[in-house]
Amino acid sequence: MTGKYVVRTHGCQMNEHDSERIAGLLEADGYTRAANDDEADVIVVNTCCIRENADMRLYGQLGWLKTWKGEAPGRQIVVSGCLSQKDKDVVLQKAGWVDVVMGTHNVHRAAELLRESRSTGPIVEILDEAVVDDHAMFPSALPARRETTYNAWVTIQIGCDNSCAFCIVPAVRGRELSRPFAEIVDEVRVLASQGITEVTLLGQNVNSYGRDLAVDLRRAGADAKLRPMFAELLESVGSIEGIRRVRFTSPHPKDMRPETFAAMASTPSVCEHLHYPLQSGSDSVLAAMHRGYTAERYLERLIEARRVIPDLAVTTDIIVGFPGETEADFERTMEVAAEACFDSAYEFEFSPRPGTEAADMNDRFVDPKIVNDRFERLRVVLEHSAAIKHEERVGRVEEVVIEGVSKRNEGVLTGRTRQNKLLHFPSAEPIRVGSYANVLVTSAARHFLRGELREVTAAPTHKVRLAVASA
Ligand code: SF4
Repeated sequence: MTGKYVVRTHGCQMNEHDSERIAGLLEADGYTRAANDDEADVIVVNTCCIRENADMRLYGQLGWLKTWKGEAPGRQIVVSGCLSQKDKDVVLQKAGWVDVVMGTHNVHRAAELLRESRSTGPIVEILDEAVVDDHAMFPSALPARRETTYNAWVTIQIGCDNSCAFCIVPAVRGRELSRPFAEIVDEVRVLASQGITEVTLLGQNVNSYGRDLAVDLRRAGADAKLRPMFAELLESVGSIEGIRRVRFTSPHPKDMRPETFAAMASTPSVCEHLHYPLQSGSDSVLAAMHRGYTAERYLERLIEARRVIPDLAVTTDIIVGFPGETEADFERTMEVAAEACFDSAYEFEFSPRPGTEAADMNDRFVDPKIVNDRFERLRVVLEHSAAIKHEERVGRVEEVVIEGVSKRNEGVLTGRTRQNKLLHFPSAEPIRVGSYANVLVTSAARHFLRGELREVTAAPTHKVRLAVASA
């Protein structure tokens, strides 16, 4: 095939990672990337059902794509991702001009389905769960067209065995499956040999990585300890030559183990950043959410993490206005947030996602005006903490990896610190993306830092355009 494609991604990093794989598969099939929609023969919309009004946005976009498709013969539209997994046949019922509807478990079939649909007409293929086959299970085992070339996401686990009341992930991504340890380490070795210096280990619940593998081994009669394999994985991946930074997302507070903190502290390449989703500071709301920890336990582990890992930055997610949240519950969230003193936080107003348990709690929904008021009150607390944490960094020299030129000012470069903070600094000379540099922090804002370049410490080692490569 010699056509051109565009992949549009909605939602989270897991989706962005799936999009890279879809792009990689299309390139392996002979497609090249289009500069814009006009040039494209195929548009893939990789959907997400987590965001509010996701379905309205999708069907609005598909309406526009109907016109796009009619403008040139042979054009094709693919809808993938968790909204198609959830809606199944509904996509074609509402938008019969779509060529392929596929779910989250068959990313590996993207190119084949596109080819088949040319002769058979529209295809819907939604698998209910991952097929036990390397390529089907783990997107990282597929060819990739990576968006950035100095860093890479590496899937270590898919699905989730938890049942958080607000979350659609278990329904659309299936049960938790860990990728074999050796396969992950091998993939990172290949990435390092291609000059990639930073990897982010990706999963819905990364720190429970390996639990299923150990259980399977035991069932098979092996004397497998139920040990925390995530810590071992951090150590193994972090010791691969050429890997300067290891990140991971997202861990679950209930599965946070001392071994993970110890591995973070003892493996120099593992960045001093922990995303540690609180969701609520009220024990009764946490119980209604099925989060599996109390605020006290959360704070104890946070103190322990900060004790063990010097200079740790901590970020979080908090939902305001979960069904049944009282003023007292909310005030407890404010207290816990103030005590935790996060470096930054993603704050969300609760909104019901169809298909989740919380969406059926409509007898306990909180008045939107109250939710909005609470959101603003919590925002003040979170921004105060972020300001304290950022001020603490003024006067330090931070190592950054260069991400590019600032969107607002061409003479300013943007780098990312090990603590995952954006640091902007002027530079008379261009510095290539993926370089490492030391930058003195001169001032702090709520969401970023400003600084002065001290020295470039390492040039990028990645190839400018990674060939489509199967790990
Ligand atoms: S841990 Fe909870 S929030 Fe995270 S993916 Fe699983 S169910 Fe969703």
